[in-house]
Amino acid sequence: MGRIDETIDAIGEGIDLSPETVPFNLSMMNPFDRGLVSYSSPNKPTVELCLDKVGTHNLWFRRVHQFSYGGIPVIIDVHRHFMPKVLFERYGALNKPTWRHQEPTLEFTFYHKLYEVDRQLQDMDEAGIDIAVLNLAQWSLKGIEMCRLINDSIAAVVKEHPDRFIGCVHLPLEDTKASLEELHRGLGLGLRAWAILSSFLDITLDDERMSPIYDEVSRLKLPIVMHASLLPKGAESAYTIGRSLARGYDISGAALRIIYKVFQKWPDLQFILPHMGGVLPMMKGRVMAFFEPPPELGFKLEYPEDIRPLPKTLNELQATGAIPYFNKLFDKLYFDTGGACGWMPAMQAAVNAYLPEQIIFGTDYPMEIHTGKDKKWFIDNIKAMDIPAKNKELIFSGNLKRIFGLKG
Ligand SMILES: [Zn+2]
Repeated sequence: MGRIDETIDAIGEGIDLSPETVPFNLSMMNPFDRGLVSYSSPNKPTVELCLDKVGTHNLWFRRVHQFSYGGIPVIIDVHRHFMPKVLFERYGALNKPTWRHQEPTLEFTFYHKLYEVDRQLQDMDEAGIDIAVLNLAQWSLKGIEMCRLINDSIAAVVKEHPDRFIGCVHLPLEDTKASLEELHRGLGLGLRAWAILSSFLDITLDDERMSPIYDEVSRLKLPIVMHASLLPKGAESAYTIGRSLARGYDISGAALRIIYKVFQKWPDLQFILPHMGGVLPMMKGRVMAFFEPPPELGFKLEYPEDIRPLPKTLNELQATGAIPYFNKLFDKLYFDTGGACGWMPAMQAAVNAYLPEQIIFGTDYPMEIHTGKDKKWFIDNIKAMDIPAKNKELIFSGNLKRIFGLKG
C-alpha cells in the first residue's frame, strides 16, 4: 500500500493538513473504508477526506477540502441560485433588468442578482441568513460543457466565501460516463451536494440510466438538492400554467418515483425536494390512500376484497398496517420551504403534512424572493408560527446541519 501522507501531499494544494488540523493518524485509516470520512473539533474547521479509489495496493485521496464558517450558523438557505455572468453575455441578457429566455426544453428568466455575489451577500446579511446552498440545476440540461461552466463558477464563489456558501455539482444526466467524471471533478472543486431536476427531459428519477450515479452518490453520502424542472414534460406555457402549476406536479411525481423505486435500492439517499414537495402538502393523503408497498419491502397488504382497487381511508389503512410502511418511506424525504414566495398558508400546510425533521428553510432567492427585506419578512413569519421553538430550529438550520454533517 502506498503511503497515504505522500498521496495527500501531492494533492493537498496548500490546505493545512498538519496534525493540528487533522488530528488523527491518517496512516491508521482502514484502506478498505470507502466514501467520506470527516473530522471536526471545536474551533477548527471540518475536514473531509473523500476516499475515491481503493485497490489492493494503492489508496488515493480524491479530494481534500476544508469547510469552515464564522460562528454557529443559525439560518441556512438551501434553495439559492447563482449564475455566471458569462451566460448573461452569451444569451444577450447583460445590462437588462430581466430577460426571459425561451426554447423548447428550457424557459428561464435572467435576473441580474443571479451573478451579483456582493448583492446576494448584502441581502443575506439583511435577512440574517448565515449560509446559502447554491445551484443552477435548471441549466444542467444543456450538456457537459454547461455543467462544467456552472460547477467551476459556483466552486469559485464558494472558494471566495467558504463561510457563506455551499455549492452543488451539476451533471449532464443524458451521458452517464460524463456525469460520473464530472461528479468527481466537482467534488474535487469543493462542491458538496448534487443538484438534480425533478425530471430531466425524458429521464425521470426512476430511470435505469440513473443507477450508476445513484450508486456513486450513495457511496459518497452526498446530499441531493432537487430543483423543479422548469418545463416538465406535458407542461404548457399558457396562462403561466407551466410555471405556477406544472412544476409542482412534477416535483410531487418525483417524490413517488423515489418512494416506490429509488429507495428500494438506495434507501439512504437524502433527497431535498423543492417547493414544499409541490402539491404534496395537500395531496399526501390521497397518495397514502392509494399506497401499495413496493414488493421489495416483503409485505403484502390484505385489503378487503370489495375496496381493494379503491382509495382507502386512514382508518382502513391503519387496519391493514399500511401506515408504518408508508411513513417508513415518506418520512425519509426532505422538503424546502420555497415555492410559494413566502405565502404562509402553504408553509402552514407543509408544517401540518410533514414532520419537523423533514422541512428545510429555502427561499429560491433571487428568483422567487428578491430582496433581503422580503427574505427577512418570510423568516419573521416562520419565527411567529405557532409551532415549538425546537421545530423552528430544525427548519432554519438543524435539519440541514444534520444532512451535511455541519457542526454548530
Ligand atoms: Zn429555484
